[in-house]
Amino acid sequence: MKPFVHILGSELVASKIDLMPTLVASIRENYQKTLDAIAASARKAGRDPDSVRLVVVTKLQPIEVVEAAIEAGAKVLGENYPEEAVQKITELKSQTSVKPSQFAVEWHIIGHVQSRKARLVAEHFALFQSLDSLKLAERVDHFAAEFDRVLPILLEFNVGDEESKSGWFASDETHWTDLLNDVNAVASLTHLQVRGLMTMPPLFTEPEAARPYFQRLRRLRDFLAKRVPQIEWRELSMGTSADYTVAVEEGATLVRVGQAIVGARPRRGD
Ligand SMILES: *Cc1c(COP(=O)(O)O)cnc(C)c1O
Repeated sequence: MKPFVHILGSELVASKIDLMPTLVASIRENYQKTLDAIAASARKAGRDPDSVRLVVVTKLQPIEVVEAAIEAGAKVLGENYPEEAVQKITELKSQTSVKPSQFAVEWHIIGHVQSRKARLVAEHFALFQSLDSLKLAERVDHFAAEFDRVLPILLEFNVGDEESKSGWFASDETHWTDLLNDVNAVASLTHLQVRGLMTMPPLFTEPEAARPYFQRLRRLRDFLAKRVPQIEWRELSMGTSADYTVAVEEGATLVRVGQAIVGARPRRGD
């Protein structure tokens, strides 16, 4: 994919001249374009454009990019690594000239969380989108209780065939009843509130190729809604830069878009 933002955050940090206004302007343009595309896809599917929220994914991006994204209008930020995210949250809070928009922004965790990071997730995030095991659920629930809060979560399902992806394995629809034990167990945890489902399908070059996976996640939602009716099952988090328009057509209520808005990601460890 052609990068939309041509200044990398790392170059921004290294640069002596102030590139911030340029970065904000280019992120603002990409953000607006993405919102417009979401609205068009929603209307095409007979949905209310306001029923879809745009999560701007800033994983591995430096703090300057996060600030620029907020300045450009981002309301929800998605991060994969709890430590990195908490560092950014803390840094924004400690700045002398904190803008009101920085307080209003909502932080979501969207990547696989190791159990020793459960505490950070329970403390700092508005939505934990990528809960992928009962064991982790119990751990996060325990810490949420300590923080005296109820943490909203999504259950992550692997609706493709890739072994490497995280999430409950759910590609075989004839085995969906096997999921009910864990789903009911998570639903019964008093300091977690299940809001819906999340998935990360296999990556294709052609967005249309992801459609069957989004449809499968929606069918899984309908399946669970019938069998675990005490949960609202409102949210479907699906679609990235590569395929969010298709995801919206298939019912996404949260799309997670990084590169198409904030530009190419620095690699891990750079
Ligand atoms: C990185 C990531 C995204 C965003 O991907 P882009 O290609 O930057 O849009 C979305 N969801 C998850 C789970 C991710 O890890």
